[in-house]
Order: sequence, then C-alpha cells, then structure tokens
Amino acid sequence: METPENEHFRDSIGTINEQGNRSWVYPKKPSGKFYEYRKWVSYFLLAFLFSAPFIKINGNQFLLFNVLERRFNIFGFPFWPQDFHLFVISMVIGVVFVTLFTVVFGRIFCGWICPQTIFMEMVFRRIEYWTEGDRGKQIRLDKQKWNGEKWRKRLLKWSVFFIISFLIANVFLAYLIGSDRVIAYVTSPPTEHISTLISLLIFTGVFYFVFAWFREQVCIIACPYGRLQGVLLDNQSVVVAYDYKRGEKEKGRAKFKKNEDRATSGKGDCIDCKLCVHVCPTGIDIRNGTQLECVNCTACIDECDDMMEKVGLPKGLIRYASINNIEKKSKFRFNARMKGYTAVLGILISVLIGMMFLRNDVEATILRLPGQLYQKTESGAISNVYTYKVINKTTENIEGVTYKLLSHDGTIRVVSNELFQVPRQGLAEGTLFIELPTKELRDDKMKLKIGVYSGDKLIETTTTNFLGPRSYR
Ligand code: SF4
Ligand code: SF4
Repeated sequence: METPENEHFRDSIGTINEQGNRSWVYPKKPSGKFYEYRKWVSYFLLAFLFSAPFIKINGNQFLLFNVLERRFNIFGFPFWPQDFHLFVISMVIGVVFVTLFTVVFGRIFCGWICPQTIFMEMVFRRIEYWTEGDRGKQIRLDKQKWNGEKWRKRLLKWSVFFIISFLIANVFLAYLIGSDRVIAYVTSPPTEHISTLISLLIFTGVFYFVFAWFREQVCIIACPYGRLQGVLLDNQSVVVAYDYKRGEKEKGRAKFKKNEDRATSGKGDCIDCKLCVHVCPTGIDIRNGTQLECVNCTACIDECDDMMEKVGLPKGLIRYASINNIEKKSKFRFNARMKGYTAVLGILISVLIGMMFLRNDVEATILRLPGQLYQKTESGAISNVYTYKVINKTTENIEGVTYKLLSHDGTIRVVSNELFQVPRQGLAEGTLFIELPTKELRDDKMKLKIGVYSGDKLIETTTTNFLGPRSYR
C-alpha cells in the first residue's frame, strides 16, 4: 500500500529525498527566548570544553582520557587500571542516568548540552549565517553559479570552518595525550613530531567533515542515543511537542485571516506559516508528532511563539510538554514521577562522587611467588617469598616506604632495598620475604595483615597468605 503524501514522514528521513540523495537543510536563523538561553548555556559549555584539559588540580589535569597509556583523570582524580571497578560502576550509573533522564526529560540533553549540537548550532551554523546570510540567502547562494561572490563567501566560510576544526582538534588531543604535551608540541618545530601533526590533521579533517557536511546526519543516523528514543520515551516524557489538539481543532490548521475568530470558526490555532519547519536544523515538521530526528533544540518553540504573538493568539502552541499534557490539556508540572526519578539520579551521582573521594591514593598488593612452598631458616623460622607492588596515584613521590607485619610477630625483608621510593603517579615493585617464628604458626595456611609505611606514617594496609608445615597445627 502506498503511503499518503502527508504521511511520508513515517517511512522516510527528512534529509533524504526520494532518489536517496541528501536533501540539504537550510534552517532559518533562530531567535527568541529559548535561543538566548541556549546561547548562554553554550558559552558556558564551550568555555568548559576548551579549558578543562588546561585546568590542573593538585598537578593533575582536570579531564584526561589517555586511552593509549591507560591514564584517566576525571575532575582531577587520576584513575588507574586498578580503579577499573570504579570505571565500570560509573558506566553502569551513566547508563541508568541516561535512561532515567530520557524517560523523564526526553532529549533535553541533545538540544542543550550535547557537544555536537553546541558546536553545530552555536558555532558553525552562526558562522554560516555570518558569512552567507539567513536561509533565503543561503538557498540563493547555493543555486547561483560559481561567480566571484560565491567563491568569496564560500572560501571565507571554509577557511573559518577549517581554523575552528583545527582548534577543536588541538583541544581534543589535549584530552587524549595531555595538555602539557600538546603545548610542548605547539611550541616546538612541527618537524620534530610529524606523526602527531598527521594525527592532528586527521582529527581536523574529521571535525571539518562532521560540521561542514555531515551535520544533522550525526544525530539522525550515527548517534546511538538518538536511536534509543523510540524505546525510552512514553506518554509522560517531556519533549518539544506540537499541541495538535489546539493547533488542529475540528477543521484543522488554516492560513491566518485578519479579524477572523478562530475560536468560533473551528479552525486550529496553527496558521500553517511553516516557520517551525523552516527553522528546524534537522529538516522535520514537528506538527507530525515526536520524531527520532528531533533534537529538542527549541528553535521551533521560539519561532511559533513569535508568530502567535504577531497574530494575537496565545503562545505555547509548540512547547515543552508530554503527550498526556496535550491530551488532557494540563500544564507542565514537575510531577511525582519526575521528582522520584530526579531523586534517584541525585543519589546515583552522590554514590559515584562518594566512591571517588573514598578511593585510596596508594594501593599495595603482596602475592606469594607462584610455585614456591615455604622454607625453613637457620633459626628455625618459616619463610615465604612474595612479589610486591605499590602504586602511587598522587602527584608527590612517596619516600622511605617499608612494610610491617600487623597481625603477627614476624619480620618482612625487602630484597635489595629495605626502604624504597614510589614515584609520583608511578609504581614500585620487587620481591620480599616474610618470616614467622614457629610460635606464630597456627595453621598451614594463614592470612597476614601488613601495613605499608612511609616513615612512621601508615599509608595503606593489605593482606596476603602465608604457608607453613602441617605439623605445627
Ligand atoms: S510556527 Fe506555529 S503556526 Fe506556524 S506552522 Fe508551525 S505550528 Fe503552525
Ligand atoms: S522539531 Fe523543533 S525542537 Fe525538534 S529539532 Fe526541529 S526545531 Fe528543534
């Protein structure tokens, strides 16, 4: 069965035409209350994104995701492979957070916080408005032949896009390999680090491709979060929605006529001006209902509110609302479900922050050397041999490190160095012997508690097993 003309949105994407080619979107320049708020949020987030790798807390980069060297800093806390459990818990919390947040608040994240939207709509799109003008001018420029004006405008746009992509690539690299190294590379001749320069240019090319050409396709095709919307949203989720009850009424939408009383004529409040469609950066018509392409950017709210004001009708024909709000004609309220879910989100974040603060700065492991049994010393004591590892996650060297037995009366002998140093953000490892006199042997396999000391200060405790002969039981 063929899809009716006005139902095409159900089985097609707004940015792909019937021949399967890309349908370029020329969104009208947004303006209005929400756009102003979004601008301020974007200034804050851009400042954060660009400065986070250059901020240091106790000598640690504020945010670092060095995948190659397996070094991660989150809010100035260095994470080691030994903190993998925290990483897994953060991931689980992240998934629960995203799920609950989306169930309640829809795609608010996409419109207000997602770096893709922030860079696309608040940086690159604004450069485009500056170099090529608003929607009408962009369409005209696209259609016109390659003359001096078109070359000038396009070259200006492409150059600014390239410079910003290059800047973003540098910051991206600072998140990956650390800002100190990026600054060192930037201040030294490029010939000294050709491979990094090539990586930088590849990143620049990717960012340029995404923001100059791929654009809204990231949200529509590539982003997994966008794909999840269909299963996460329900009738109570708050989304950018068209109030079809009010917009269509009994006789449907209709063009505006001066002095017509739409309340008595039965016509809906939508005057079919299509501004909400023209302003949409993903090329959809919000009047067709919630669609996976919608990134909740609020541009259509602003545009429709402005039109409603001009024609003397109440604002809010497109607004933040749930399907239930629209069907029951109720106003948006922070209901019990939202309060409950928000409380759960708050608890999850608190748990994660608590775990990060309670995490040990020093970690020690002492493991019996595989395949080795106990030995009897000349004095008759029983000795076991171990390998040890002490990890220092702080930014200071730890000096004069030694071990003491806390649970038993015995001795620990570190091979080659009684006192050793654990370098900052590094580790020390080696071999040690633990000797217990026969009076301490209560079983053939015992658990020992060992303290790790820096001078007289206990910095960590750990446990290990000790093997002895059965005859001492
Ligand atoms: S902007 Fe408002 S009035 Fe105009 S077409 Fe969209 S919903 Fe209808
Ligand atoms: S439908 Fe409205 S909120 Fe959704 S992407 Fe388009 S303009 Fe933004």
